[in-house]
Amino acid sequence: MKDTTLTHNNTQKVAIIGAGASGIFCAITLLQHNIPVMLFDKNKNLGKKLLATGNGRCNIHNQNTHANHYQTSSFNPKTIQNILQNFSFKTFAKTCQNLGIALEIQEDSKVYPLANSAKSVLEVFEDLLKNSKNLEMYLESEILELHKTQENFLLKSCAGEFICSCVVLACGSEAAPKLGGSDKGLQLAKNLGLKVIPTYPTLVPLMVESKLTNHLKGVKIKAKLTLKKDNQILKTLTDDVLFTDYGISGFGVLDISTHIKLQKDLKIILDFVPFLEEKVLENQLATLIKTYPNRKTSTLLSGFLHPKIAKAFAQNITWNPKNTKQLKQFVFGLKNFELTNPTLKGFENAEVSGGGVSGEEVNPNTLESKKHKNLYVIGEMLDVVGERGGYNLAFAWASAHICSKAILDTFK
Ligand SMILES: Cc1cc2nc3c(=O)[nH]c(=O)nc-3n(C[C@H](O)[C@H](O)[C@H](O)COP(=O)(O)OP(=O)(O)OC[C@H]3O[C@@H](n4cnc5c(N)ncnc54)[C@H](O)[C@@H]3O)c2cc1C
Repeated sequence: MKDTTLTHNNTQKVAIIGAGASGIFCAITLLQHNIPVMLFDKNKNLGKKLLATGNGRCNIHNQNTHANHYQTSSFNPKTIQNILQNFSFKTFAKTCQNLGIALEIQEDSKVYPLANSAKSVLEVFEDLLKNSKNLEMYLESEILELHKTQENFLLKSCAGEFICSCVVLACGSEAAPKLGGSDKGLQLAKNLGLKVIPTYPTLVPLMVESKLTNHLKGVKIKAKLTLKKDNQILKTLTDDVLFTDYGISGFGVLDISTHIKLQKDLKIILDFVPFLEEKVLENQLATLIKTYPNRKTSTLLSGFLHPKIAKAFAQNITWNPKNTKQLKQFVFGLKNFELTNPTLKGFENAEVSGGGVSGEEVNPNTLESKKHKNLYVIGEMLDVVGERGGYNLAFAWASAHICSKAILDTFK
């Protein structure tokens, strides 16, 4: 393809495709060093997903970032650790201070802006971008095609065609399409011959088929969740579970979803009474049955369980004091309630996506494509996904940092 057919020749500019967390951060870093940037986003406003983070509070980072908190099938964990260490929380906090964003570290090591608002973070970012003479911003400008020319890259969008010497792919993932999530970035990467690891929704509610959960719609409890495959435990955790019309949601469920990936034939074991040992619960119930022989079963259970759960479990039992096994089995059922074949709810309900551009495709020290010089891939487009707790934004900032540092070196 010849460059002469094009309308805008921007060979000295860096084109960043995607004005989300990683794209904005990369742009700000480059602009601070007077590198001209063209920033494209298909949305009308930039940072739409960033605004929704942390329920609008923006869980912007985690003080304890480590490769252990990320999943990938193509990156070496050492590479992830290296990217994170290159832009540690301490350095990020210092950068935020310089930009004018004060941070607050919670006891659980999650980090939020002191203003407690994603909007404040975006306002500061927008101010930095708008006040830069070196920025051309193209909103409502989806990049539809990206081609490698002999020396440069050709970008085609509804806003026109552009030639650039350097391109950063920061298009995010398919998660949360209402907030701009799409697989367009991965398609651009694939068309350039980059290998993409199959994607899957994660940090996502789960669909399960169970009569019990249908009865409990709207109930939120703290429960222990154990994810199993062929009797092998994949993950155990205790956190919020919210029952819904399609299955289960809540923080505990989102966290366990990250261990499901594309696997099938799994089981989730729910412990409705995680803070009492089986034997202790059995003894306490036995004493109560003796002391209050006329008390309704649902009322007996309500001392331990949410009343709706107590009612659901009480429906199928009438105590028989002569049957010693009955109480034991009942308590076992409360602490080992089986949900078979949990399935991921889909990208529209997911916070993030697993899979993405393979780690084999990029230089681990720069995130530059090994196939195409001056093409970089950052943020959630890469085959790296973090746990809940600020880890995904932490990776977006760190990957943007490592890439902008490499670009700065080439512009020296
Ligand atoms: C509801 C919700 C809550 C979340 N909360 C948190 C949280 O509290 N903490 C945390 O760490 N993480 C959180 N995340 C995850 C976090 O938001 C993402 O991991 C992060 O935004 C990824 O940054 P990114 O720059 O890679 O992608 P994005 O922020 O998604 O940005 C990608 C941008 O690229 C644009 N784009 C895509 N294709 C094209 C194209 N072809 N042309 C032009 N533009 C294009 C999109 O419109 C988008 O604006 C949350 C996610 C969701 C959905």
